[in-house]
Amino acid sequence: MFDIISKLLQVQERDQRLRNLQKDLKDIPMLQARAKDQLAGDQAACDAAQAKVREVEVKIKNVELDIQTRQNTIKRLHDQQFETRKNDEFQALGNEVIRYQNEVRGLEDQEIEHMEALEAAKAVLQEAQGKLAVTQGHVNDELKQLDERAANLQTRITELKADRAAIVQPLAPDSLNLYDRLMKSKGNSAIVPVDAGVCGGCHMKLVSATINALKANDAIVHCEQCGRILYFD
Ligand SMILES: [Zn+2]
Repeated sequence: MFDIISKLLQVQERDQRLRNLQKDLKDIPMLQARAKDQLAGDQAACDAAQAKVREVEVKIKNVELDIQTRQNTIKRLHDQQFETRKNDEFQALGNEVIRYQNEVRGLEDQEIEHMEALEAAKAVLQEAQGKLAVTQGHVNDELKQLDERAANLQTRITELKADRAAIVQPLAPDSLNLYDRLMKSKGNSAIVPVDAGVCGGCHMKLVSATINALKANDAIVHCEQCGRILYFD
């Protein structure tokens, strides 16, 4: 094989590997974001459960305040009863006391219901927190693996670039520029094999003049269709 072609093929092999590694590296932030997204659902469930606990706690607090207010009133009515000497007033105050006591009992029943609701809400919260912790563990593992993968890719890219630099070092700048331009414009490959008279890049049938030039094996030959550099495999 024409010597420059075999050298450029080595460069191309490094470039193709480099491109794959760089693509993998570029995907890492997206994969990290996707891993973190897994937390969103569990975090939302936790937040909702926490909000429910607070809501019930506020209800309990309000009922307790209502009970306290009525108990203060009952105490005041008892004091008034103690001070009065009028029988009908004593009786009226006694009826008021009974009315407030009934209200207190109703409020105490409400408080018990709220307490039960609080227990249930706390259980839901605990479960949601447990689930979040498990997911967080998985996500942390995944993020750690992605970090390791990124570092590994970076190392391989650095090594491959050094390898490439060593290969291109003795090459004539003209040939290298030609290769670089083709690689840039074609994207996937600048040098392609000829198989059964067909260009390995664009898959068009080559004219016999091109095949003959290639057989002479003394110059760089391009596909007349796509311009890629040709070689016999
Ligand atoms: Zn071609």
